[in-house]
Amino acid sequence: MSCAPYTMNARLRTYFLVLAAFAATAGTVMVRTLVAGDGRAPEIGALEAVYAREAQRIEPMELTPGATFGQILTDAGLDANEQSALLLAFREQASPRRMRAGTEVRLVWRGDREWLNGIEVDINRDETVRLDRSEVGWLSSKEVVSTVTDTVFVAGQIGSILWNSVMDHQDLARMPPGDRARLIHRLDQVFQWQVDFSRQIRRGDYYRFAFERHVRPDGSMRDGSLISAELVNEGRSYHAIWFDPNGDGEGTYYDLEGQSVRRAFLKKPLEFRRIASRYTNSRFHPVLKRWRAHRGVDYAADSGTPIQATGDGVVVRRNWSDTYGNVIDIRHPNGFVTRYAHLSRWGPGIVQGSRVKQGEVVGYVGMTGLASGPHLHYEMRTQAGPIDPLAIELPAGDPVPTDDWERWTTESADRLAMLLKLPDPETFRAATDEPRTARSDH
Ligand SMILES: [Zn+2]
Repeated sequence: MSCAPYTMNARLRTYFLVLAAFAATAGTVMVRTLVAGDGRAPEIGALEAVYAREAQRIEPMELTPGATFGQILTDAGLDANEQSALLLAFREQASPRRMRAGTEVRLVWRGDREWLNGIEVDINRDETVRLDRSEVGWLSSKEVVSTVTDTVFVAGQIGSILWNSVMDHQDLARMPPGDRARLIHRLDQVFQWQVDFSRQIRRGDYYRFAFERHVRPDGSMRDGSLISAELVNEGRSYHAIWFDPNGDGEGTYYDLEGQSVRRAFLKKPLEFRRIASRYTNSRFHPVLKRWRAHRGVDYAADSGTPIQATGDGVVVRRNWSDTYGNVIDIRHPNGFVTRYAHLSRWGPGIVQGSRVKQGEVVGYVGMTGLASGPHLHYEMRTQAGPIDPLAIELPAGDPVPTDDWERWTTESADRLAMLLKLPDPETFRAATDEPRTARSDH
């Protein structure tokens, strides 16, 4: 172990290693197009004249629900001809319809508000369309905010529930809360066939993961993906390591043996981030009733929350019952049937006889029938009778293709190594068991 001159607890907190700093993607990407003011194409070979920059004044404004872009242009003194030339240039980069209320528009004035020299429109968080007045009319260009790529390494032991453990993780304190929630969602997506985060996570469970992200200059995440993750649930360890057999970006996650983490059934029909229990402390039981009590599982969630088919199958029932309210039954291969009850409405195009894919939205949470509040009642049955969806063990998914086995061996070893440098469950246990006195760890 290291000889870091601080305490065990402090050392655990330092595992927010932002590595791989500056595998930087692109600087500013410029896409430049030229639209002549009178509609004629500019002369081939014409060069832009180079002038000394005059003083500019930038006037920021925001599109309010009442104010249109056209209104702003009119107020800035552009006549109808100039406006249509400007919009023509704008359309080379983006649709003006993408400008919603709240869009920031900056007017660039030359001199003392006598001449509108340019306009900048933030069409989204990552792209700005620039319009510049030139000798030949309005020029448009698009600037893409540059991001840096880094990898976040996090390990933690679950004190109460997974949601709180990640949201309150000290190593993630600098990450915006929305991005932390996205991390949890990615973990849920990766382990959705293995563990129901809302019902199976226990105090003392453990996780560690490596997450690669693209970060904007303001510290927010544009996107990201899990590279590798481990979850220890009630003493059983689950691994998920990203691998892309064809190299086409359509990869998936595999366990240490090279078997896909996918199974014929998801553990639960709702995304973890939608299940109401996440907001509460450990004393609140996320399940309204235990499975044994009524042969089904209830998930508290807001009305309108999308419900996913837990497996591929055919809708064999879509009707009303006094008890279940709006109810859907799906028949799956091997005699499995799943039931989704108290729905507020059906999923798009879902009728009796519909073929559905795992993860497809079949309906929305409601409180129709005998329901005291909005929740989803979920059942799973075989010909032999009702079964507990948490209790079934399903065969592993497809293994890594034989042709890719060598590459898998190399890549998975690298991705697993990222986890292995993080504190393991024993480290956390030791830290928890130790007396709470500061102690040097030499
Ligand atoms: Zn129920």
